[in-house]
Amino acid sequence: MQKIYRRYIIINGIVQGVGFRPFVYRNAVRCNLKGWVKNCNRGVYIDVEGTIENLTEFIYLLKTEAPPLAVVEQCTITEKEVINYTTFTIKETEDENSTVTWISPDIALCTECEKELQNKENRRYHYPFINCTHCGPRFSIIEKLPYDRSTTTMKSFSLCSDCKEEYENPLNRRFHAQPNACPVCGPTVWLTDQNGIKFENVQALDTAREMLKQGKIIAVKGIGGFHLVCDASNEEAVETLRKRKRRPTKPFAVMMKNIDIIKQYCTVSDTEEKILVGNKKPILLLNKKQEKLPKDVAPLQKTLGVLLPYAPLHYLLFDEKIDVLVMTSANISGQPMVYQNEEAVEKLSGIVDYFLFHNREIYIPVEDSVSKVVLEQERVIRRARGYAPSPISLEGSHTILACGAQLKNTFCIGNADVAYLSAFIGDLDSKESLAHYERMIEHFKKLYALNPNLVVHDLHPNLLSTEFAKKQAGTIVGVQHHHAHAVSCMVENNIHKPVIGVVFDGTGYGDDGKIWGGEFLICDEKQFERVGHLNEVSMPGGEKAIKEPWRMGLSYLYEAYGEQVKALPLKSLGSKASIQLLSALQKKLPFPLTTSIGRLFDAAAALIGFDGSTTYEGEAAVYLESMADSNIVESYPYNLIEQQDQFVIDTCPMIRQIIDEVINNQKSSMIAQKFHNTVTAFTIDMCKKISQQYGIFDVVLSGGVFQNEILFLNVYQGLVKEGLTVYTHKQIPCNDGGVSVGQLRIAQKIMKERERCV
Ligand code: ZN
Ligand code: ZN
Ligand code: FE
Repeated sequence: MQKIYRRYIIINGIVQGVGFRPFVYRNAVRCNLKGWVKNCNRGVYIDVEGTIENLTEFIYLLKTEAPPLAVVEQCTITEKEVINYTTFTIKETEDENSTVTWISPDIALCTECEKELQNKENRRYHYPFINCTHCGPRFSIIEKLPYDRSTTTMKSFSLCSDCKEEYENPLNRRFHAQPNACPVCGPTVWLTDQNGIKFENVQALDTAREMLKQGKIIAVKGIGGFHLVCDASNEEAVETLRKRKRRPTKPFAVMMKNIDIIKQYCTVSDTEEKILVGNKKPILLLNKKQEKLPKDVAPLQKTLGVLLPYAPLHYLLFDEKIDVLVMTSANISGQPMVYQNEEAVEKLSGIVDYFLFHNREIYIPVEDSVSKVVLEQERVIRRARGYAPSPISLEGSHTILACGAQLKNTFCIGNADVAYLSAFIGDLDSKESLAHYERMIEHFKKLYALNPNLVVHDLHPNLLSTEFAKKQAGTIVGVQHHHAHAVSCMVENNIHKPVIGVVFDGTGYGDDGKIWGGEFLICDEKQFERVGHLNEVSMPGGEKAIKEPWRMGLSYLYEAYGEQVKALPLKSLGSKASIQLLSALQKKLPFPLTTSIGRLFDAAAALIGFDGSTTYEGEAAVYLESMADSNIVESYPYNLIEQQDQFVIDTCPMIRQIIDEVINNQKSSMIAQKFHNTVTAFTIDMCKKISQQYGIFDVVLSGGVFQNEILFLNVYQGLVKEGLTVYTHKQIPCNDGGVSVGQLRIAQKIMKERERCV
């Protein structure tokens, strides 16, 4: 008889709720091993005995054939004394108070479940909550760990005998699939009117589809919250939705029936197709092929945010006559997404005609993620469903909470080994969004059993996230906004040496109390030096100048022409508001000063005709980008001035030439492109100068303005041509959604340094 050996194996990573134990079971049986496998907070533990050949084969299979959703981060194997197990079993989950394992994000419906959903013979035919261990809700339904049915919102449904059999059979695809359900025992869906009064004796989904065809607006409860849904090809429905939601121009995302339909509307590369059909199913920004949908869906945009159905319920909203649905997250402006039934009626009854409810509770709301492919790589713009809370490896020494910034807020929490970036929270500018933010932080603290003793905030004293941070116990550290941006990109690219950080965004508080946003830093993970920036201009009217681009237009005009500005033959200068603002500028009223590139984009947009106020962040920049004519290669003049050890970009020559061209009725599409070319040119010029002076050849590009594809591509390619190494954002957003990662990293480094000095 062959000699028997024993191996004790601990596996860390995303290994719970992804079919890992049945996978272990099947392979143990296949390799003729005895022993057991069990889930613990810390991961999956395996104790096995068998011949050395069989054990080797088994371990090889563990490492190479893990289920699709599993991420094996670490596999520790120890030899132990043989105790002669006689069977192989799956043991009950054990609760222990140690470091937790990772939680899987919510996963889109898998192909096997989709087949069953559409198969008339299947007992789950058209059942809107079908799922298995390879798909379905996870993060949004988990109340605490370890991940088990009793710790999710599925606890109120008891399994019928058929479902129970699947749940208990290690060889079944639904073995320990916690949200497992069927029409007999699981959640149900129903339709109500706009006051939440249920329609009796109607087929909820059939009726909902009919209503969509009639141009009605329905609030649909999905995986992470409610969507407002209407037929995207129905101009009137889209217009009504815009009016009722008071959302005049911000583009709506659309869900399309399948990939072939998407290809009718948009160009789709191989990389883009992989992301669209993959198991995360983000909203992907694609280039429109033609304007087949009503203009109101995504006004002024060259791109369209598109996603495929990801919840089984979504598949059932389409039929032969419905190909494209508007799918926009349901909230009242400035507030977090609605995710509970009663709350939906309370807040949305004035916006929608019907509600499509279900009774699987959402414990944690999660928004749709948004991504874009540039330079053949996925770049996440909003990191939420399908992505969060996947961890980021960071080695540190403290338990840290980084509170993030104000807009597109995320927070980041971590300990010695690992950090978790929260899902997209949104703009922290209302009492409701602050409450949501605080609840999420509490949830993460409990879930991962983390009790932060170091809390990090943005330097801006008046942000809700800063105020929150200052109320926490422990050491409190402030980190400069643009430094955090640059370092978030360094974390993503694993860089630990000094770099040139080019950070272009809308608003960030500088360490001189001014508003920064067109910054060139020399920085490492601990400190930064501001070595260059855009010229300083006033923000007339303060915060108002952010929403009203014409104010920045006027400010730049005043900067470029001084008192002569009045002589310019520009119609806009005649308005009462302009005359007042100009006299305020002449009187040198103490307006805030800014070096923000976002505000420069606003000014340029205003000068070539962007009228009125912006209704979402970056709107004026989107206006410029979408009108730019890519055939134009010329640019405008500018100066690089050396001022007190800093390089300053003087944009006045550019502004003067733009005005000449506006006065001479040159095409806006040409001016818009020349403007982009100029920003590109001075950025590259600046990096060259800094690189020569400081001997640094690595550049990181960060900040929300780099979501502008023209600028991003041209700057990237220009810098590479100059022989510089350029690092960019991929999984961590370049906008303020990534700031918390940088904050956490910088605080870790600062504390390490402090401890070394003690
Ligand atoms: Zn499935
Ligand atoms: Zn059942
Ligand atoms: Fe920012």
